[in-house]
Amino acid sequence: MTDRYDVVVVGAGNAAFCAALAAQERGARVLHLERAPEDEAGGNSRFTAGLMRVAYNGVEDLKRVMPDLSAEEIARTDFGTYNEDQFLDDMARVTEFRCDPDLTEILVKRSLDTVAWMRGKGVRFTAAWGRQAFNIGGRFKFWGGLTVEAVGGGPGLVDSLTAAARKNGIDLWYGARATGLLADDDGVKGVQVRRAGRTTFVNAKGVVLAAGGFQANPEWRARYLGPGWELAKVRGTRFNTGDVIRMALDVGAAPTGNWSGCHAVAWERNAPEFGDLAVGDQFQKHSYPWGIYLNADGKRFVDEGADFRNYTYAKYGRVILAQPGQFAWQVFDAKVKAQLRDEYKIRQVTKRTANTLEALVKQLDDVDADAALREIKAYNAAVRTDIPFNPNVKDGRCTVGLAIPKSNWANTLDTPPFEAYAVTCGITFSFGGLRINTDAQVMSTDGEPIPGLFAAGELVGGIFYFNYPGGTGLTNGAVYGRIAGAAAARSAVPR
Ligand SMILES: Cc1cc2nc3c(=O)[nH]c(=O)nc-3n(C[C@H](O)[C@H](O)[C@H](O)COP(=O)(O)OP(=O)(O)OC[C@H]3O[C@@H](n4cnc5c(N)ncnc54)[C@H](O)[C@@H]3O)c2cc1C
Repeated sequence: MTDRYDVVVVGAGNAAFCAALAAQERGARVLHLERAPEDEAGGNSRFTAGLMRVAYNGVEDLKRVMPDLSAEEIARTDFGTYNEDQFLDDMARVTEFRCDPDLTEILVKRSLDTVAWMRGKGVRFTAAWGRQAFNIGGRFKFWGGLTVEAVGGGPGLVDSLTAAARKNGIDLWYGARATGLLADDDGVKGVQVRRAGRTTFVNAKGVVLAAGGFQANPEWRARYLGPGWELAKVRGTRFNTGDVIRMALDVGAAPTGNWSGCHAVAWERNAPEFGDLAVGDQFQKHSYPWGIYLNADGKRFVDEGADFRNYTYAKYGRVILAQPGQFAWQVFDAKVKAQLRDEYKIRQVTKRTANTLEALVKQLDDVDADAALREIKAYNAAVRTDIPFNPNVKDGRCTVGLAIPKSNWANTLDTPPFEAYAVTCGITFSFGGLRINTDAQVMSTDGEPIPGLFAAGELVGGIFYFNYPGGTGLTNGAVYGRIAGAAAARSAVPR
């Protein structure tokens, strides 16, 4: 039994660190419980590119989080604006107007300030020129409202947050798995922990749950997301198995949100069952807007150019999982080769190359080659080649008359060499979780806050439904982690 802490934070990813730092700056003695050993610590946050979506009115706002931007960098970049209304609109649109309006408003309105606060804690950020902007005539133009990334990506983010926690006297227990909440009629009083084969109890006046979703649990995936989801690959950590969600439900927490929904993307078909920190997010294959998808029947099955990649990638993993054999091939021709993202260049790809379409389709494992060739020819014939291709805008270069249209960036496949990449569904995180209020207090099934219990990040429900605007997961965890930590400290060390 340990009585040394005011606030216990379950997890050691982005949301958890923000909670711990916010609690510590209010005078609380804070402990992290991290289920993973130190060399695998940091949760999904460590697997990310470190991209964080913030609302900003111009480069002056961005300089709050990237004070190191030089005059020369600013001169060669068109950051545009991405104001609060645009961020709110994106959240509403992609979640089909299901996102909780109060939680979403806070997420958006505190996004910039929270990331600036992280900068103050020692996390450095840079502009995401490589992934989110196109170079037009020597000047970079950002296209999707997503401009900020942590230096060093997810590993850099977790390293900086870990260093900040240590510098501020926050204790970290690795290999410490929370297995239950200590609760009575007055609320939550601590956490039961399994560490080095022993069960111990940590008392605290405030407990923040920031232990991720249930995506790494195949049984829960099949149970909540539906049949077949046990077959998806997990993009990130193997430790987010939903046990902390269950612990909260066991003490009366209310579930909410899109329990049958998740973030899932196109992912290397032969990737391992869980994420590999040496490869990070590079198993993803996000350049499909410049090519086409084919399934085992040789058919296209989705509008690859329905919207900017940031607004479709998180829902297309589900579409791939629904295909026969749970896989698909992405096909490109030489015209767009230079546009393919860096992740297409890694060694661990299932890639085929040929100088004719006839030769290419024969190499596509498990695909009806004749049908695939017919499909590509029909697609080529349907492209409005009179409309110029422009990756910076939704260019309207579409197909005409196909059962599955392609609405933008419809390139004909006619210039060798042709390339194809095999993908399956990679799940990122589950959307359903715990109900919180705007102070990040966990709500009970009776509709009251559970005293002493707070939550942030992936295990909170009600924010994402069906889809997700890229770069919002880390911002969501940071905003609500900071709120949760401050609220937990207030309940633990009243001033
Ligand atoms: C490959 C990939 C790329 C991504 N790229 C981006 C991106 O660029 N931008 C973005 O915004 N989002 C991105 N995401 C989504 C993002 O990772 C998540 O939204 C975010 O990291 C969730 O943060 P979190 O702190 O809630 O959870 P996590 O970072 O997953 O942290 C959960 C923590 O809880 C611990 N834990 C679990 N169970 C227990 C237990 N029982 N006891 C103790 N500890 C426990 C875990 O070990 C971990 O430390 C990406 C995800 C993946 C997988």
